[in-house]
Amino acid sequence: MSHPQFDVVIVGAGPAGSTAALHLQNSGLRVCLMDKATFPRDKICGDALSGTVGYELHKLGPQVMQAFMQAEPKIATSGIRFVSPNLHTLDIILRKVRPGLSAPGYLFPRIHFDQFLFNLASNHPHIQTISQCTVQSINTSKQHVTLQTSQGHFSSRFIIAADGAQSIIARHCGIQHQHPHLSAGVRQYFTGVTGLPSPTLIELHFLPETLPGYVWIFPLPNGLANVGMGMRSDVVIQKKISLRHLFQHIIHHHPHLSPRFKYASALEPPRGFPLPLGSLRRPLVHGPILLTGDAAACIDPFTGEGIGYAMTSGRIAAQSIIHALHSPNPMLHLHAYNHLLHQAIGSEMKTSYRLQQLLQYPRLFDRVVQKANRSPAFKDLLRQMIEEPANKSQWLNPLLYLRILWPF
Ligand SMILES: Cc1cc2nc3c(=O)[nH]c(=O)nc-3n(C[C@H](O)[C@H](O)[C@H](O)COP(=O)(O)OP(=O)(O)OC[C@H]3O[C@@H](n4cnc5c(N)ncnc54)[C@H](O)[C@@H]3O)c2cc1C
Repeated sequence: MSHPQFDVVIVGAGPAGSTAALHLQNSGLRVCLMDKATFPRDKICGDALSGTVGYELHKLGPQVMQAFMQAEPKIATSGIRFVSPNLHTLDIILRKVRPGLSAPGYLFPRIHFDQFLFNLASNHPHIQTISQCTVQSINTSKQHVTLQTSQGHFSSRFIIAADGAQSIIARHCGIQHQHPHLSAGVRQYFTGVTGLPSPTLIELHFLPETLPGYVWIFPLPNGLANVGMGMRSDVVIQKKISLRHLFQHIIHHHPHLSPRFKYASALEPPRGFPLPLGSLRRPLVHGPILLTGDAAACIDPFTGEGIGYAMTSGRIAAQSIIHALHSPNPMLHLHAYNHLLHQAIGSEMKTSYRLQQLLQYPRLFDRVVQKANRSPAFKDLLRQMIEEPANKSQWLNPLLYLRILWPF
């Protein structure tokens, strides 16, 4: 019987994979982090880092927090501007700042943020990083998993699949991202977009033509802006929408948004990528393989946020392997990962799915915005529901809807 080369091979060095590697760095295990790309590499994304990312950076330790604070180019964000279907605006200024950070959130182009995490992992002597290594197929035996890659065969006791929304490993495990639990997104970088709010807010425009999705405008350092649109892919198919065309139509012709692009220049054509949503619970442990991040469909079904949840899943997958190896029956213990990840993010995904469903009732959204603009107490409640995952579940409470509909 041949011995596997590694204890853990992590496929994909995005936020899920690099975070998993960093949590395994002092475990004494032989860890390999491989990616088909060479870093720095771009990832189509809104580039918005939420409080969940702050929480995960905190879990990686004070040195990582300090390095993050010095990393460039990023800008701090103070909150969120919601624009409702009837074009009313609601600004929610967030207050919760994690110790060690300077703001509730950040905008940090993925080409730089992912390299920041990847560099932390690749600088560690116990993590072997391999770039330009594409996994092509997987073979699982009783003793180990063999990966056939563009750089030859690799064998390992465990695999952490962090290979993103189009994961070959998730497909090997029989997981398919199905409608309506999948969104499509397009992103385009611009310079010269006007009307950006100050202090810096991320803008979400829930226009009637984009529901159940939205157009975002996120300011970036050096006068850039990340602009994009996401929509559930079953709706895209059902309405026979070309997301790129609709997006460009909105940018150039929407009476509310197009004036802001009058002097703007696009730096690239709109580029699309799928978002596997966490609105369906899936099995995430398949023998010695653990699915994480987008490969495990950990994206918030309402906001499209996935970076922080990818990091959470990478952390919990790494911890699950370490704990399993200390138990008499590692394979049995590995299954705890399913439960632990659900415990960590399951209720947030459930609430966000409900919110996404409520977008079928645009007038309710209008009403929430109007109510919050009239009632400071209600606005503060919304802030708390955004900031505290535990408070988010209030969206499942029917009394909240009575409060929204109540005229005073
Ligand atoms: C349009 C759009 C906008 C978004 N905006 C935001 C946002 O603003 N904020 C937010 O929090 N989330 C956002 N998301 C979601 C976020 O991008 C993802 O949830 C996040 O990138 C998931 O991280 P990951 O590590 O799982 O996967 P990825 O970041 O996709 O990393 C996967 C890695 O695997 C590698 N890989 C793939 N296949 C193979 C293979 N066969 N062999 C070897 N390596 C492989 C890839 O090269 C890549 O480096 C957005 C997504 C989209 C599509």
